[in-house]
Amino acid sequence: MEFKVISFYKYVEINNLEETSLRLRELCNKLGILGRILISKEGINGAVSGKSESLEIFREDIRKEKMFNDLTFREQEFKENAYHKLVIRIRNQIVNFGINVDLDKKGNYVEAEELKKMLDEKEDFVLLDTRNKHEIKVGRFRNAVDLGINNFREFPKNISKIDKNKKIVMYCTGGVRCEKASAFLNENGFKDVNQLQGGIINYTNKFNDHFEGSCFVFDDRLTYENSKPITRCIHCEELSGNYINCNNLDCDKLFISCKDCEIKMKKTCCLECKDSGRQRKTKKILNIAGKVINYYKKPGVVLVELEKDIKVNSRLGFIGKTTDEFCQEIFELKDYYGKDIKEANKGDLVTFPVDFDVRKNDKLFLI
Ligand SMILES: [Zn+2]
Ligand SMILES: [Zn+2]
Repeated sequence: MEFKVISFYKYVEINNLEETSLRLRELCNKLGILGRILISKEGINGAVSGKSESLEIFREDIRKEKMFNDLTFREQEFKENAYHKLVIRIRNQIVNFGINVDLDKKGNYVEAEELKKMLDEKEDFVLLDTRNKHEIKVGRFRNAVDLGINNFREFPKNISKIDKNKKIVMYCTGGVRCEKASAFLNENGFKDVNQLQGGIINYTNKFNDHFEGSCFVFDDRLTYENSKPITRCIHCEELSGNYINCNNLDCDKLFISCKDCEIKMKKTCCLECKDSGRQRKTKKILNIAGKVINYYKKPGVVLVELEKDIKVNSRLGFIGKTTDEFCQEIFELKDYYGKDIKEANKGDLVTFPVDFDVRKNDKLFLI
């Protein structure tokens, strides 16, 4: 498949935050990669999506920096870009735990294979889900302990029901939360603390038993399905693991809906919300810069009629009925007669190379 979502994290001291952020942004823009990356003095935590070959370059490039040279990536195939924009933020922490922990005290890693064996053999241990209750609702390891927390900051206050003397294996989506949670348990007298390496994503990439339902993720998919859903559509009761954020901005409720009802109800949770005036625009297009007149697939060149002025190094987004949104930096620009130009104006017909296939009448917008 053409598109992938990759996620990664590493706790490592980053001192040149601005510089790192800028470098990542340039890299993503150059490669048409979208997603969400948080960096802080304590490390990096991100998930991005794009074409497989672009992500390959992204991985190689990011690893060139010494502090990221052992960065590992979890990856999943997807039919399109799983993000519709690029967000890179500098934060105080990459995961907000509320309190500071000594990460040197983190729990031992348990590989997916090892956890599967422990579950197959019904070994006696506590399987602890460190995620929030709305994530656990749509999918979890069978018999895992759910702390019922609304956010990760509530974790420390809610561990009293866990037996300190038992063997614990904890898990989260990709592993980044368990690093802190396991260190916290070790600091608080728990005897045998372990964490699932690479989290649910790594496990479900390899096995589809023991984990029931869908895994909640933080991109536009909201969930991906692993096995038969364990939740039902709020409209028709059909089994479904499909999460939706109500499209009525004044409601914004997170609910389960089957795909049919999603379309019928226009991504809203009830008739009242469906008729409400304040509906979320799923893709914001603010600054329309023109439209595609023709696309020459072989050389990968697009002919565009401009509604705004553009120049070499301008960054444009493309979107259309069947084209997945992506961003493109203009490296070379030609006028209608094939002459190299540095800039062009509203009303001009221009051509430039694009990295992805586009179609006639696709819109472009300035980013
Ligand atoms: Zn339904
Ligand atoms: Zn609603």
